[in-house]
Amino acid sequence: MLNAVRKIKVMKKGFVYLVGAGPGRADLITVRGAQVIKDADCIIYDKLANPALLKFARKDVETIHVPKRIGKGSTTQEEINKLLLEKASSGKTVIRLKGGDPCIFGRCAEELAVLVEAGTDFEIVPGVTAAIAAAEYTGIILTDRDYSSQVVFVTGHEAEGKQKSNIDWELLAKFGGTIVFYMAMSNLDSITRRLIENGMSEDTPAAVVADATFPTQKVAKSTLGRISEECKEQKIEPPAVVVIGVAAESDKRLDWYRKKPLFGKNIVVTRDADGNADFAAKIIYRGGNPIDFATMKIEPLTQKNEFLQALGKFSQYDWIIFTSSNGVAIFFEALQGLGKDARVFSSAKIAAIGSETSAKLEVFGIRADFVPSVFTSRELGKQLAGFVNLQGRKVLLLRSHLASGELIELLEGAGAEVENVAAYTAVAQKGEGKWLAEKLKKGEVDWLTFASPFSVRVFFEQVPVKTVNSSSVKVASIGPVTSEQLESLGVRVDVRTVEHTIDGLLSTIEEMCE
Ligand code: SAH
Repeated sequence: MLNAVRKIKVMKKGFVYLVGAGPGRADLITVRGAQVIKDADCIIYDKLANPALLKFARKDVETIHVPKRIGKGSTTQEEINKLLLEKASSGKTVIRLKGGDPCIFGRCAEELAVLVEAGTDFEIVPGVTAAIAAAEYTGIILTDRDYSSQVVFVTGHEAEGKQKSNIDWELLAKFGGTIVFYMAMSNLDSITRRLIENGMSEDTPAAVVADATFPTQKVAKSTLGRISEECKEQKIEPPAVVVIGVAAESDKRLDWYRKKPLFGKNIVVTRDADGNADFAAKIIYRGGNPIDFATMKIEPLTQKNEFLQALGKFSQYDWIIFTSSNGVAIFFEALQGLGKDARVFSSAKIAAIGSETSAKLEVFGIRADFVPSVFTSRELGKQLAGFVNLQGRKVLLLRSHLASGELIELLEGAGAEVENVAAYTAVAQKGEGKWLAEKLKKGEVDWLTFASPFSVRVFFEQVPVKTVNSSSVKVASIGPVTSEQLESLGVRVDVRTVEHTIDGLLSTIEEMCE
């Protein structure tokens, strides 16, 4: 009888990263923070940590939201400590993700004490704290050699049940530099009163910055005596920091973020998940607020015989045409999966429909031989026929299963032998459209954007045309085919782009927002 082989499982040792998520927008996390999120088995994140950061993680990561607020659905600090320990002691790499910097008003000492006691290893990854980001995103300079040689961060909400305040109001009132209060909104009246009672001038400049670094960022400016009233009038809500001192007056010319072209604009993106992520990043870069409403999934058809056969005789084609960056990405993914590389193109010339597609080709080391001056299939067909003699030439089209026949007709009309091969298809992705319809009715959406006729169809199967047409929202279309689809459904098109790319679409929207 064979001896039973006993498998000894080596237990991985747990590790905890205490990571600062940064003050708001996802790209303000540190490089180290983003890097360690990639390694996580489990992410335990706060209410103020941007959930968009979870996208950096592996697909199979466990995510646990631990919002701390009064009332239902909140988590106590003890529960969080327990959870942290439980996950780490089961050998997991745990990310404890906290808004801003993890150790500024973050109760990190309590979490670290639990880890130290259990002998769990940890690393602290600093983050940009709210005070600094809120000031810088509104042009408030916290230190200045003339008027602010010292800065202090103060909590406006001391621990419950504390017998004696740790805050020295007398000292703060005389401080003379810049004071930044966190968690102060519910006590703003009493905070300002105490400073004034202790001798600070009512006329001291004060500013409140809410939702800092987000497109919803708001600023209220006044004096110490009036700031609380001003916040009520402007309906400023937490999270917000309160800046008190000469610095709060700040130079209007330094208020750079709100001058971004799409600042505060709510823009719905309707592509597939990856396309939306790219688009959203561009909107955020311009100060806008992307609203994700994915309408489709892209599915490769590169396992199909049709594609594999075409690939097998690549060297026979004179021209290979890509009509989207999706097509390029999917093509190269398939190529890699088959253990091949760009040498399959051999002597074939390559055409791309536009700048996005040609840029994607360049990622893989390929420079397109031809890109038309107008980025549509029609122009690609017409202009390619003018650029070279296509008589008797073998042309391969690698594109979406849903693409129209017009390009084939144009190329065949110029004498080419065309093979049209589907490299991918789009599959409708439908969810609940009601929430978006509600937002539209309330006037909370500024723009709807469409980058393909397919998205248009799927979108309007979920959101009524009437809701869109009767709201104040503007509709932007990437190109003529998409516009035709919108019009055929009776949708009013407000923006048609000159350059049919996502960048072109955004530039046109920007012009209309000026
Ligand atoms: N560790 C965090 C602070 C946690 S305490 C940090 O370093 O930023 C929570 C407080 O932070 C809020 O009450 C608010 O005062 C401030 N805050 C967090 N995010 C903010 C934001 N985006 N805009 C303004 N204030 C913010």
